[in-house]
Amino acid sequence: MSAPSIHWFRDDLRLADNPALAAAVAAGPTLGLYIFDESPTRRPLGGASRWWLSRSLAALATDLERRGGALMLLRGDPETLLPKVADLAGAGLVTWSRRYDGDSVALDARIKSELQNAGRKVSSFNAALLNEPWQVTTKTGDPMKVFTPYWRAARARGEPPAPLPAPARIVAAALPAELAAMAVTREDLALEPHAPDWAGGLRDAWTPGEAGAADSLARFLSGPLAGYGEDRNRPDLASTSRLSPHLRFGEIGPRQIWHATRSAIESGEATAPESDADKFLSEIGWREFSYHLLFHNPDLATRNYNQRFDVFPWRHDETALKAWQRGATGYPIIDAGLRELWTTGWMHNRVRMIVASFLIKHLLIDWRAGEAWFWDTLVDADPANNAASWQWVAGSGADAAPYYRIFNPVTQGLKFDPRGAYVRRWIPEIAALGDAEIHEPWKAPSVSLRRAGIDLGVTYPSPIVDLDAGRQRALAALASTKG
Ligand SMILES: Cc1cc2nc3c(=O)[nH]c(=O)nc-3n(C[C@H](O)[C@H](O)[C@H](O)COP(=O)(O)OP(=O)(O)OC[C@H]3O[C@@H](n4cnc5c(N)ncnc54)[C@H](O)[C@@H]3O)c2cc1C
Repeated sequence: MSAPSIHWFRDDLRLADNPALAAAVAAGPTLGLYIFDESPTRRPLGGASRWWLSRSLAALATDLERRGGALMLLRGDPETLLPKVADLAGAGLVTWSRRYDGDSVALDARIKSELQNAGRKVSSFNAALLNEPWQVTTKTGDPMKVFTPYWRAARARGEPPAPLPAPARIVAAALPAELAAMAVTREDLALEPHAPDWAGGLRDAWTPGEAGAADSLARFLSGPLAGYGEDRNRPDLASTSRLSPHLRFGEIGPRQIWHATRSAIESGEATAPESDADKFLSEIGWREFSYHLLFHNPDLATRNYNQRFDVFPWRHDETALKAWQRGATGYPIIDAGLRELWTTGWMHNRVRMIVASFLIKHLLIDWRAGEAWFWDTLVDADPANNAASWQWVAGSGADAAPYYRIFNPVTQGLKFDPRGAYVRRWIPEIAALGDAEIHEPWKAPSVSLRRAGIDLGVTYPSPIVDLDAGRQRALAALASTKG
């Protein structure tokens, strides 16, 4: 009988296209292990991510059990726990899928050498990316800084390998009593909120787990993919895949998305033109690019990529930050986005850009305060995408939006939510306003406001900043960093 293997699950909570799990299962009886990392150096998961993780672990445990396997949960510091588990289990092989944030890279290297010193085999694999961050470089071997050449170089590396199937059968490793006694339950981890239970909107909106991810992809390919190139900017339409939290927790991987998209187009199962598929896959490319940036800049979430921004004169304004977080700025598209986020744990990409621009530029509040709020409230809060995107909007990032691009929330609202359906959905107190007024209620004649049941400043806030004055202030602040 071969020595047991351990597959250490982290951000790869799936069975299919999981080469590290497949290697563990091929080598012998397997212990599936998840360690809820409570070490002080790790950035704690936000509330919405904790909820997602809890549901995803439940789905993973069921999926493993259906194939004969099992998932063991532990809590604490992986650096002490994993070697101990390997000892107690007498493991011959330990596998995992690689992670790319600085803390994880360093932690994994330390654990790997400790396990190897104890005579165990350790194998790590790529389950999260089409290309590892070090595989795409400039001609001189340096990291890439601009998306278009990055994606061109990534595409030139050829088709990603075909995804692996899920292991058909898993033999669960027998656990000695001392090891079994260390296990905790999902309830012990207390990942889901209670008193108050604020997760009702999340439960209504999402099905965490590998099956939920596969359903979202299938629904997207047979529907919204056609027209994605145009409609992806419209928050009033369900026009994007909503795969982001599934990708964040590794319930689906980009190789699976790539091949499913290509084959849906080639088989004619998806009626979308090739250009829509290319656009969709290039968004997966932006995710790859964010990971490339994070790997080469481990402090991407805390430090300006462009250090010119280190002298930026940020304002400290708790009242304005709170109004933004609560969706009470008086600008309907902003407030709708932040309320969508609070209720469902997700926000449409176009609206993420608008609300981020408003916080950073019109309110002059440090992008890190916005990043932190998103980290806590997004179900897809991602160490690479969140940091890279906030820096992109701030203008401090690699290949960033030009610093002088300051989105006007009214124009953006009129352009991307032309009938106001998105705003009406999330801000019912102004829903009765007409299409011409819904994005700027402060301009509505008092008779319209009265008819719509709005007492501006009472039932819905008046704007917390004047757009023109805010814009001028932002431009002056940005110019001050130039010298
Ligand atoms: C300020 C800000 C913060 C963001 N924070 C996050 C975050 O924490 N986690 C996260 O996954 N995305 C983040 N994004 C990127 C983007 O908004 C989401 O990935 C997207 O809205 C998810 O919806 P979807 O799955 O329906 O996307 P689709 O349009 O269906 O795209 C498919 C996938 O491509 C990737 N993707 C799409 N757009 C981007 C992008 N601009 N940058 C990087 N990857 C992208 C995502 O993995 C997404 O699931 C942020 C964007 C902004 C402007």
